[in-house]
Amino acid sequence: MFVDLATVHLKAGNGGNGAVSFHREKYVAAGGPDGGDGGRGGNIVFQGDRNLSTLADFRYKRKYTAESGQNGGASRCTGKSAPDLVISVPYGTLVKEAETGRILADISDDSSAIIAKGGNGGWGNMHFATATRQVPRFAKNGAAGEEFDVTLELKLLADVGLIGFPNVGKSTLISVVSEAKPKIANYHFTTLTPVLGVVRMGEGSSFVMADIPGLIEGAGTGAGLGHEFLRHVERCRILLHVLDISGSEGRDPIEDFDMINRELAVFSEELATHPQIVVANKCDLVEEEKIRQVQAYFEEKGYAFFPIMAAIGEGTKALIDYVAAALAKLPPLKHYEVEGRLPQEPVSGNGRTFHIRMENGVFFIDDAPWLMDIMNTVDPDDYESLQYFERVLRSSGIIEALENAGIAEGDTVQVEDVSFEFVP
Ligand code: GDP
Ligand code: MG
Repeated sequence: MFVDLATVHLKAGNGGNGAVSFHREKYVAAGGPDGGDGGRGGNIVFQGDRNLSTLADFRYKRKYTAESGQNGGASRCTGKSAPDLVISVPYGTLVKEAETGRILADISDDSSAIIAKGGNGGWGNMHFATATRQVPRFAKNGAAGEEFDVTLELKLLADVGLIGFPNVGKSTLISVVSEAKPKIANYHFTTLTPVLGVVRMGEGSSFVMADIPGLIEGAGTGAGLGHEFLRHVERCRILLHVLDISGSEGRDPIEDFDMINRELAVFSEELATHPQIVVANKCDLVEEEKIRQVQAYFEEKGYAFFPIMAAIGEGTKALIDYVAAALAKLPPLKHYEVEGRLPQEPVSGNGRTFHIRMENGVFFIDDAPWLMDIMNTVDPDDYESLQYFERVLRSSGIIEALENAGIAEGDTVQVEDVSFEFVP
């Protein structure tokens, strides 16, 4: 099944925790701190894979978690960093942050992009020794890996897109000018998945053509089949607008042409301004006179016009030569500008958030998981460690907030299930 949209949850690896350890040697009474740092958590990386053509894999697996880094060890042993988790996607996949729609990557070749960053490892206590603090009994925990949802959107990488009503002969055309062999049948919607074909012009020159399922009226507003496929012609540099000139199904080719263009405009104003070449198919079914009439109409409007009989390949060579020459003059395939994620809520420095609440004489510090992380590393029996903790309370603004709330020496402060006495 062809799937070109998916939402997946990413959780990059957490950093490993730093270690608290002291150097021990025979006959050496008190060695220095030698607790190593935690390893880095694994990133989540998206990688283009030319052998994939749909996002079908993501219908079944929707959660991706990279491994955490290992904790630091004694003897300055740094924990092992976790490997990156690499997710393969087809060429042409846009990775967007689900919440904001911001573009994080446009994977259009075999290059890769880090989408969710693993957390840094925490520092071991070997980093916290100073001239005055020689026995740091604390270390830092590793940082959390990034965690968020992304949407994946496949937009085919084709130079030329075929558009037109069902049954006008689009699949027939791509099958005679390229190696692609889509299903061709005399009923509607035979093409249910986009098909790419390489049109070879000889001597290393070629371009890619996409046959997408036929557009129908209302497709631009999502009324029917087609809307979901329009994204596949968004990158195309030229659109071949295929018409059934014979009006074999009681249709009028000019009315069809206008209707499809209205659909394109509804979907995307920009798409509606892509260069179009008018291809009048099934010329075997009409009189010369009719062809001239329709040709005059489109040429008057400034369109290049090609009468063809796709079924027997008549007129297709002239069309393809013209397309190749036109492509040579156009800018390269559209790539999307990477926007990146907005800066996330800072978890250090002044961005450390919290709420103060007073209940029955106890001052609670709520909504501060970062503070809990730090408290877990604090050794209440260690003076240096406590001093570090006090600095954190001060620099994050907690002490000031407590004082504003009327705290006095000896009052109880509580963070989750840990409480301590306030000493200004
Ligand atoms: P699509 O839905 O636009 O992809 O149309 P298809 O390529 O599947 O063709 C629809 C029908 O039109 C098929 O029965 C084809 O054999 C027929 N057809 C395609 N090209 C020509 C042509 O040049 N002349 C005639 N008479 N029929 C054609
Ligand atoms: Mg078709």
